[in-house]
Amino acid sequence: MNKTSSTPSHDIPSYLDPNNLGPWGIYLAQVDRVTPYLGDLARWVETLKRPKRSLIVDVPIELDNGTIAHYEGYRVQHNISRGPGKGGVRFHQNVTLSEVMALSAWMSIKNAAVNVPYGGAKGGIRVDPSTLSMGELERLTRRYTSEIGLIIGPSKDIPAPDVNTNERIMAWMMDTYSMNSGSTATGVVTGKPIDLGGSLGRKEATGRGVFTVGVEAAKRIGLSIDGVRIAVQGFGNVGGTAAKLFVEAGARLIAVQDHAGGVYNDQGLDVVALQTHVTEHGSVLGFAGGEVLQPEEFWACDCDILIPAALEGQLTAHNAPKVKARMVIEGANGPTTPEADDILQANNVLVLPDVIANAGGVTVSYFEWVQDFSSFFWSEAEINQRLVNIMTDAFTAVWNVGQQHKVSLRTATFIVACTRILHARAMRGLYP
Ligand code: GLU
Repeated sequence: MNKTSSTPSHDIPSYLDPNNLGPWGIYLAQVDRVTPYLGDLARWVETLKRPKRSLIVDVPIELDNGTIAHYEGYRVQHNISRGPGKGGVRFHQNVTLSEVMALSAWMSIKNAAVNVPYGGAKGGIRVDPSTLSMGELERLTRRYTSEIGLIIGPSKDIPAPDVNTNERIMAWMMDTYSMNSGSTATGVVTGKPIDLGGSLGRKEATGRGVFTVGVEAAKRIGLSIDGVRIAVQGFGNVGGTAAKLFVEAGARLIAVQDHAGGVYNDQGLDVVALQTHVTEHGSVLGFAGGEVLQPEEFWACDCDILIPAALEGQLTAHNAPKVKARMVIEGANGPTTPEADDILQANNVLVLPDVIANAGGVTVSYFEWVQDFSSFFWSEAEINQRLVNIMTDAFTAVWNVGQQHKVSLRTATFIVACTRILHARAMRGLYP
């Protein structure tokens, strides 16, 4: 049998514009960087460059004013070699197929990096949910769930919350799937309300994971958390929780930027007061405990740790040279472009990549799924301890691979993850 791929590579699926690949292009560049480290498994690398299954659905709903609106929905299963698809669903007006493909691929990498028995998947609807009433949001969620019901299921593909989706939306998804299949299937989604088979600690899990790997990495570069200056982009579930945990450990939160504005306080922002302000006003804008911070100033602010925890493509060749931090922890998925990665590396800024740094969420999703299957629920302390153990071990393995090959932590995480995925792929073999 041929050791190397014998057919010419057609890296770009015909349904994407090769001149405008969007986030999928970033992901492909990351795969190209890891390929030289895959040894014989490089034979299978093409597997990673095309999603296994991409479903595009029309989601029509009746609006409150009696008209019919149509939204575009997606569910992409990037890889299922190591287990069922797993990954969130995002509701955002800029969602595209390219974005959902990239996010599904990053889920494959993330799940393999922390060694949970899942492949990678992601879903989304191209909608600005802030324009919908609660009833419209429910109808949209239910119709979308029904449309993707063909390919999801507790042992097929398990959605979860992501940008602009939450436990209420997961409850509607679980109910819709259960109504269609004729029995209550709590294991079809994670991130559910506690009373519907959700897990303690799930909501804070992504932020807790960001904090855990941040502390581990800080130890290795001789950075003390006590008094460390942190700046956070995005103050939702991930950024808000991570900031709170860092502040509780002695850090000073000096800058926060979100979709509507930025705040700065050299002496440290009051994280609890800021969270209350965000809950009440929907953004950090207008927070009295700090000065207004302009978008460009945020990236250049005088901090030690920078945590992008919003959307992808935020750290670019344009703003990366201004970063003063010693460490960037990616709470968001895909916030750093490959050019920015290179600039940060050249400037000695350590980047803890999304595919390990924000894996805490899916790790506790895995605990939720296991608890649902066994109908036996664990204590919060037990969940948090297991989460910290998994994140610490996974980070240590990635760190060691990074040292061994003298590569960035992103490439190191891809080496660990792609090796696991492609090893499973090779062992399973091609059917027929
Ligand atoms: N949406 C989260 C992520 O990007 C969590 C996914 C999950 O729990 O399945 O990692």
